[in-house]
Amino acid sequence: MFISVFDIFKIGIGPSSSHTMGPMTAALLFLKSLAKTGAKADRIRVSLHGSLAFTGKGHATDRAIILGLAGFTAETAEATEMATTLTEIHDRHRIAPQDFPPFRFDPNSDLIFDYGPSLPGHANGMCFSAFAENGSLLMQQTYYSIGGGFVVLAEDLNNSSLNESSTAGGPAVPYPFNTADEMLAAGKAADLSVAEMKRANELGFVNGRELDDRLDRVWRVMSDSIDRGLAADGILPGGLKLKRRAKELFRQLEKEMAVGDRHLLLVNEWLVQNAIAVSEENAAGGKIVTAPTNGAAGVIPAVISYYLAFYSGATPADVRTFLLVAAAIGGIIKHNGSISGAEVGCQGEIGSAAAMAAAGLCAVLGGTNEQIENSAEIALEHHLGMTCDPVNGLVQVPCIERNGFGAVKAVTAATLALRGDGSHLISLDKCIRTMYQTGLDMNDKYKETSRGGLAVNLVDC
Ligand code: SF4
Repeated sequence: MFISVFDIFKIGIGPSSSHTMGPMTAALLFLKSLAKTGAKADRIRVSLHGSLAFTGKGHATDRAIILGLAGFTAETAEATEMATTLTEIHDRHRIAPQDFPPFRFDPNSDLIFDYGPSLPGHANGMCFSAFAENGSLLMQQTYYSIGGGFVVLAEDLNNSSLNESSTAGGPAVPYPFNTADEMLAAGKAADLSVAEMKRANELGFVNGRELDDRLDRVWRVMSDSIDRGLAADGILPGGLKLKRRAKELFRQLEKEMAVGDRHLLLVNEWLVQNAIAVSEENAAGGKIVTAPTNGAAGVIPAVISYYLAFYSGATPADVRTFLLVAAAIGGIIKHNGSISGAEVGCQGEIGSAAAMAAAGLCAVLGGTNEQIENSAEIALEHHLGMTCDPVNGLVQVPCIERNGFGAVKAVTAATLALRGDGSHLISLDKCIRTMYQTGLDMNDKYKETSRGGLAVNLVDC
């Protein structure tokens, strides 16, 4: 099953890929399905279930659903336009999306947070219903947000070709691999690197110029999110009164570097500062790239920025290589495990991001395919069992700092793998299987429901 680099790295808005971007996409898909039937809805009603109900308010799911119903997409949404539209909808209880007929929608009564049992297919369920003027039901659809911004209709949940890639149904790729073992075997047979195979596979869907342009855009959005995060201060939204820290960390580090103080912990501090910058932007609802999710969006940009800053001779082509290799690993994890915190805990988000970043860094530092696989395994292994317990349902604590630690572990994993010859005891495939099984065994209260862990142990002073 081919998962494109652009399925893994989606440009969108914070704070959550599964709770913000996915629901926004689902709402728009519902509008499109309704339009296809030719029926004109008088009113639309949406219910949120499972993790979407429990942590949806903190993750801005309500805002995302309304904006999706208003015709916005996460990639193109602009902050000012979204804010104006939301105010109008709250005032008028009516949505008039561009290209679709208008309908009534009162955010207070037509958006329901259902705290009962989750829907059967996945922890992140949404049910959309459209009603005629006389109150009769015109159409009803259930969607699941399955992590990383991917959404799937309930009836398509078990059809992996539909829920894994926007390129489903496209041409066969020259170097197909679903597992890390298959990736290594394909590389050996063709005498190609992971990046070369991934690139060749992507070229079945876009030409070389378009591929490079889109990869460069992904990095630009990542890099911009670092810059904005390092420049912004103030309090993050949501009620925790958490102060942004990236700007101050940057100021202190910059001052020390200016006087030549390149102390031993400089690399760690650089990584953490940049990962925090992106994560704070995400928490503030800013534009970021899912990598592979919003909650883990800071890890990969931090590691790429570290590579560009600390290795002379780094080029834009290296960044493309990094992204392609990271996406290859992300696709394997998604296919055989999960990248959803609601499904397997934070090991699936920060753990996956760290594995992807380690692989990308290992590749641009000249690692062999075996070393790349080894680096991803090391990074993922040392996130196994990590729970998801966001305080107040916000993607802030522990999420923001956790991105910094994921970035540090990724660099450590890459450098450790590069010191070896790629041979190791636990394969990446076995590690992914372990992560998935651990996630399934994990109590639901540790899977993005804010009903356990740090989320219930915060002492109010
Ligand atoms: S704890 Fe991890 S998985 Fe959970 S919301 Fe935060 S970053 Fe995502």
